[in-house]
Amino acid sequence: MTIIDIPFLKRHHCWFCGEPNQYLFTFPHKKYFVFHCPHPKLQVPTCKECHQIALKAKADSIWAVNTQVKQGLMGLYKKDLAIGLNWTQEELANSQFEGGSFEGFQRSAWFIYGVAKQRMSYQGWPIFIDGLEVDVTYTKPCFAVDGAIYPSIDDAVQHYCYSFDLNIEFFRQVLNKVGELRFMHAVRYARLFVGSTPNEQAVALKEL
Ligand SMILES: [Zn+2]
Repeated sequence: MTIIDIPFLKRHHCWFCGEPNQYLFTFPHKKYFVFHCPHPKLQVPTCKECHQIALKAKADSIWAVNTQVKQGLMGLYKKDLAIGLNWTQEELANSQFEGGSFEGFQRSAWFIYGVAKQRMSYQGWPIFIDGLEVDVTYTKPCFAVDGAIYPSIDDAVQHYCYSFDLNIEFFRQVLNKVGELRFMHAVRYARLFVGSTPNEQAVALKEL
């Protein structure tokens, strides 16, 4: 069993999300059989939460497990991640929530959002074993937009549609027209047509 090399500055980090590590995740492991694992059996340090998600991943390499862990974190913190898209820190601070649980929400929401975003966006260090890089030509599907890194462009699409109540088919078509480099432009455009009829959305697409 080989623990991957851990840079000194990362010695307390979870390889998946950067939170303090508590466990070692072994891959491949006996609960999920992998036929063509492109790297030797290895161990990465993880936090408890990522470890639990990683054990359930159905993936054939540690990098593919990473993508599924990020998707799992996104699922767990979906609401918290949506807060940051819907509000700015200032808006949240000045919001009129008072009393009861809302006050607590106001205080902690931005902090929780920040942590969730950071964990989702965290990029683990390159994998070396005994000083040799585990060399795999693996293309990470991750997608960066507006200061966050999503496990894939589709995860970003789904999260923005969830957060802003966008019609996902309409948004995909808008994005297809403007191109993924102008993702935020597509979001702003699609938001103008929330609640529009399919006909109005069809017209909006033509005018784009
Ligand atoms: Zn973690």
